[in-house]
Amino acid sequence: MGHSDRLLMGPGPGNPYPEVLEAFGRPVLGHLDPEFIELLDETNERLRAVYRTENALTFPVSATGSAGMEATLCNVVAPGDVVVIGVNGVFGERMCDVVDRLGAEVVRVEEEWGRAIDPQRMLDAHPSPKVIATVHAETSTGVRNDIAEIGAAKGDALLLVDCVTSLGGIPLEVDAWGIDLAYSGTQKCLGVPPGLSPVTVSDRAIERFVERSQSWYLDMAMIANYVTGGGARAYHHTAPISMIYGLHAGLGVILEEGLANTQARHQECGDMLHEGLQKMGLELFAEEGHRLPEVTSVHIPLDRLPRDQDEADVRRYLLGRYGIEIGGGLGPVAGKVWRIGCMGHTARPRNVTLLLAALAEILD
Ligand SMILES: *Cc1c(COP(=O)(O)O)cnc(C)c1O
Repeated sequence: MGHSDRLLMGPGPGNPYPEVLEAFGRPVLGHLDPEFIELLDETNERLRAVYRTENALTFPVSATGSAGMEATLCNVVAPGDVVVIGVNGVFGERMCDVVDRLGAEVVRVEEEWGRAIDPQRMLDAHPSPKVIATVHAETSTGVRNDIAEIGAAKGDALLLVDCVTSLGGIPLEVDAWGIDLAYSGTQKCLGVPPGLSPVTVSDRAIERFVERSQSWYLDMAMIANYVTGGGARAYHHTAPISMIYGLHAGLGVILEEGLANTQARHQECGDMLHEGLQKMGLELFAEEGHRLPEVTSVHIPLDRLPRDQDEADVRRYLLGRYGIEIGGGLGPVAGKVWRIGCMGHTARPRNVTLLLAALAEILD
């Protein structure tokens, strides 16, 4: 195999923090072992710190980011409910699919890919939705959608936010912005391999949980006893012990560095990359003012690719010659846009410099 030299700069998993990989080697305890429960409690406390929330119900769902999406939605959405969803990329679209399968009514607020959604349009879309849902960092386009304005004027609605690619990478204030439900993923800016979906849920949202969630596995009313139940934890499903060690360690790295410093490191790398690409004559895809530092989308310079090579050949060449993985475009921008991730441990200036030099060597 020998893939350990890979520099993962796609929008998917990045290179985990070394401390995280070390944590995977810890002895496996039972999921009800007091020592493990203590570590879980500490993990949830660390999650509250990075989510900037006091929410008691804050824990990692035992599956990837999409499970956090389903878990937050299926506990507050019942058949017939109205859910306003912002759609300017793949992940807003995925939320619509989940909500539709729950038998609820989806009110779509669409924006062109590469542009941010105007918060006022989210607020004006329906007079009394049960939930307003949007994606903070759209990984498919590299665009940041504004959240605080929606939270300030949400009224009776619950505000649900996809923070998969924002948590740990850019400023995010769950309590101050009035977010009721948020979910994330371990493999983006948290610098941990894929496998868990940290979620946080306000008391206001818990009061409005559906009677009986349509998912058994993701029923947070049932899981709550295990994750926040004080001394007597009851078994719901077996916690993925080693993944939680990894998350605990990744959050530890971030809090040790200081959350603001981690975010500043992401911003510095994003700025370097944006400037470097533009200096090479490339054009960024995401709207100025709403560009994410942790995922950069850039128009592929189709007229500057090596003779007889298409963009996928170039990505293969980058991987083969330099061991650097970058991402292609999805949906309507497939073949037109590259997506470059600088997330977690990968967000280091030297990685940006290496990628820019490699691209300069390849492109005409
Ligand atoms: C990656 C991602 C997801 C899905 O997470 P998985 O871990 O792939 O299930 C959801 N939303 C956004 C914004 C993402 O970037």
